[in-house]
Amino acid sequence: MITTEEALAIIRGAIRPTAIIDALPLAQALGATLAQDAVADSDIPPFRRAAVDGYAVVSSDGPGEYPVVEDIPAGHFPKVRVTPGSVSKVMTGAPLPEGADSAVPVEDTGGFVGVGGKARIDKKIPAGKNFSPRGEDMKSGAVALSQGTVIRPQEIAILAGLGINRVPIWRRPSVAVLATGDELVEPPVVPGPGQIRNSNGPATMAMASAMGLAPVNLGIAPDEETALETKIRRGMESDFLIVSGGVSAGDRDLVPGVLARCGYKILFHKIKIKPGKPTLFGVSPAGRYVFGLPGNPVSGMVIFELFIHPALLLFQGAPAAVMEVEARLESGFKRKGADREEYLPARLSWEGGGFIARLIEYHGSGHFAALTQANGLVRIPIGVKETAAGSMAPARFLGERMAVGP
Ligand code: AMP
Ligand code: MG
Repeated sequence: MITTEEALAIIRGAIRPTAIIDALPLAQALGATLAQDAVADSDIPPFRRAAVDGYAVVSSDGPGEYPVVEDIPAGHFPKVRVTPGSVSKVMTGAPLPEGADSAVPVEDTGGFVGVGGKARIDKKIPAGKNFSPRGEDMKSGAVALSQGTVIRPQEIAILAGLGINRVPIWRRPSVAVLATGDELVEPPVVPGPGQIRNSNGPATMAMASAMGLAPVNLGIAPDEETALETKIRRGMESDFLIVSGGVSAGDRDLVPGVLARCGYKILFHKIKIKPGKPTLFGVSPAGRYVFGLPGNPVSGMVIFELFIHPALLLFQGAPAAVMEVEARLESGFKRKGADREEYLPARLSWEGGGFIARLIEYHGSGHFAALTQANGLVRIPIGVKETAAGSMAPARFLGERMAVGP
């Protein structure tokens, strides 16, 4: 059996980005990876931009009463030069007029008066204050965002600021989601004796959607080879097929056999991890990928977080860095075996200058209600049988999409 690091290395070695550039409207680019550098087409800000509502002044004038020569709201370009002994009314976001070298906030004046009136300036504001120089944030021609950057809301803001309406991105993967198990019914159905509702399908769909992908829901396949194969062959059309259930050692766990029959090469099956040990990863003859997840819902979420999320990023040419923090365990933890890396649902918070992890009462990988209490996972490394209350442990936030890069 392989370790989680070995499993990640196999995933990194197997997944090839397609090197196909698509263009997406800006509004749809969230979560995608930039395929070309985004270059500033002008200085940002494009003019000396007032940072206060008040008066543009020649700073050496100092306190006194001065005629107002122009009124400059945001969106208007000044026409009149401010000379010593005169001021212009200027609003936040408006260009500072020529001649002015600072801005006095209205709070430090006798209030606003119109053009032709006299403004009372109460305070000397040194030159260079209360406005942003032209190009302070970015100079024309500068690389604002480099290729390989995952687009978050702040990158959307930059792209919008650069006037990039169609964003060049690395092709996004298509994803198909399949739940397997004779016991499963779709959520609206009232389960009969021995049946349960399919919660993995919707959860997996949601995790892919949270990355800005548009997964296809293949529904439920029974534990029967022909029907399972039909569904899996549909899933083979997608870049990634994510199957839950049926990958363990039970005599109704048919997924590995059917995948092999469909031509998938299984690159690993079973990881030294808890939960999620039976996890499987393979590649089809057409170079498409499959993840097989154990049916227990907590396993599915942990495995998505640890392996599928990075795999989907790697496909898009994005770095897939592991983002961990160190957290102080509020309570101790003990286990019998230490041959697997274990992930425990936890509530992480910042207290007294560090992260604290509160382990959540957890009855095992079927107990998905525990995850609703959790915002993170604590990692217990292989070989560690016991951790005392107050000791430090590695932890990560759940659903934290921090793969910024490159
Ligand atoms: P399996 O991996 O197929 O042996 O399933 C392990 C456990 O997960 C069993 O208790 C299943 O009933 C449960 N399970 C499997 N698939 C799902 C699903 N889609 N939603 C919720 N629970 C599931
Ligand atoms: Mg099953």
